Amino acid sequence: MSEKYVITGGAGFIGSNLAETLSKDNDVLVIDDLSAGKMENLGCLDVRFVKGDLTDPKLLKEAFSGASCVFHQAAIASVKKSVEDPSRTNAVGIDGTLNVLIAARDAGVSRVVQASSAAVYGSSLQLPKKEDMLPEPMSPYAVSKLAAEHYARVFQELYGLKTVSLRYFNVFGPKQDPYSEYSGVISRFISALLHDEQPVIYGDGEQTRDFVYVADVVSANILASRGAPGVYNIACAKSISLNTLAKVIGKILAKEVRPRYESARAGDIKHSLADISRAKRIGYSPKYSLEEALIETIQWFGKT
Ligand code: NAD
Repeated sequence: MSEKYVITGGAGFIGSNLAETLSKDNDVLVIDDLSAGKMENLGCLDVRFVKGDLTDPKLLKEAFSGASCVFHQAAIASVKKSVEDPSRTNAVGIDGTLNVLIAARDAGVSRVVQASSAAVYGSSLQLPKKEDMLPEPMSPYAVSKLAAEHYARVFQELYGLKTVSLRYFNVFGPKQDPYSEYSGVISRFISALLHDEQPVIYGDGEQTRDFVYVADVVSANILASRGAPGVYNIACAKSISLNTLAKVIGKILAKEVRPRYESARAGDIKHSLADISRAKRIGYSPKYSLEEALIETIQWFGKT
């Protein structure tokens, strides 16, 4: 049966991939202020689009009417921007999320699935990251994600609105913007090598990340719209160093890779790895190997 779903931030990288999958069988309405997202990400998808800001409660309530689930992806998705302008991150990430939860409650939406982040774990050195660890956010961005998780839980307890917060690790895939200085490292590496330039690595390249393909993140959102509410890590539970990653991408593209090393970025964590056993309980299991996902991503970048 066709359902109505709303995706906030649906013109962005992850939101537009989710819109692509959901719009095949459902009525999808995207809300985005286009501050970072692009209409071309929605291309010829069969979705309705409302240009609007999360800070407009009336717009949200009207848009949510009749929706069974809101997938809340909108945020100022950048640690760096949050350090430069913490007020805006707060306005969108905390006040905006509160507006989403209030509007969902008042419009009779049964569930909100929202994008959280591995950034909430912050400075803790313990690996792998588990959802019950004490969060140690280190940036206004991470604080906003943690506050949003707490608001979501409290709305479930107080008003019966089912809520799920998905702590994404390093997401990559088609539609990720390689030209944004905030973009993920994989899209920047691919873009550089496709243009016969050398990738830039900040630090010694031995830092490790847990990369997850956007198609697996889309599946996680759909599972979260049905499974037990709560907080879940969404990752692959495998880590790879940036030096190895650059070599793997170079091998797929048959290009010699000689990364340009620049000084490490302040606040960058050394290692990141998720425990995904809790997400497995709602049926989540990453389907793509890193190689398969990189090949699909490279094919997409090659076409654009
Ligand atoms: P993105 O910037 O591509 O998408 C965010 C979208 O939100 C953009 O289209 C932007 O225009 C929109 N937006 C921003 N402020 C808005 C506002 N006030 N009102 C309406 N729309 C607004 O980022 P993304 O990578 O697709 O991230 C999606 C979500 O996942 C974000 O919440 C982000 O914090 C979270 N996340 C992403 C990653 C990742 O690796 N990409 C990792 C962890 C968490």
